[in-house]
Amino acid sequence: MAVSIETINALLQDVKDAAVLAKEIKAEARITIATWVSEVRGEERTQRFNDVYWQTETPITIIGEMCGLTVIEVKKFIQPHPSGVHCDGCGISLLASSREGRRDLQSYHKRGRRFSFPSLCADCKAIKNDNDRVATLARNETEDAATEKLKNMPYNDYLKTAHWKRVRTAALHRSSFRCQLCNRKRQLHVHHRTYERRGHEYYTDVIALCDECHAKYHDKEVSK
Ligand SMILES: [Zn+2]
Ligand SMILES: [Zn+2]
Ligand SMILES: [Zn+2]
Repeated sequence: MAVSIETINALLQDVKDAAVLAKEIKAEARITIATWVSEVRGEERTQRFNDVYWQTETPITIIGEMCGLTVIEVKKFIQPHPSGVHCDGCGISLLASSREGRRDLQSYHKRGRRFSFPSLCADCKAIKNDNDRVATLARNETEDAATEKLKNMPYNDYLKTAHWKRVRTAALHRSSFRCQLCNRKRQLHVHHRTYERRGHEYYTDVIALCDECHAKYHDKEVSK
């Protein structure tokens, strides 16, 4: 196809015409919506406001302009609307107070299903928060009780616990299975530098020592 200045001018004229047409259609749409909303009064009018707001994407400023109302006045007419999302706890329909809110609820629900975050109504949310708090308390109490038990049991029993075996193995790995005083690979003991945190030791509380160094260590402590 041969392109000429005439072709370009004709195209530009089409763009202008389309813009004029769009303006006319917009004006017609505004009149149509304004008439539809304003031709009734009272509850019926509120219902139509809500239908326009919830079932079309008409910007709220345009709705106001069309009906001679400010945005705040329009918002007073908007009623909570089903978001299409239901509470994962009790199944009731979750209401949105704005289109943005509805979008948020829907996208949260979509993501939530992937990561198993539930969408919850206010009541179920409160119940869940309570349950979570109780579960955390119970877990902390169990942990505290376990630590307390480890702290107070006879030392020989303590050395047989799964907890001590974990601490001991970790210390041996950290030292690469060498004595941390003389660096030899001999029979290793894991020595408590302090018993202050027995049952919940810091890794600096224990040290890997060969049997010789361990013996010296204890001699020195005794002779002091
Ligand atoms: Zn619920
Ligand atoms: Zn050693
Ligand atoms: Zn020791």
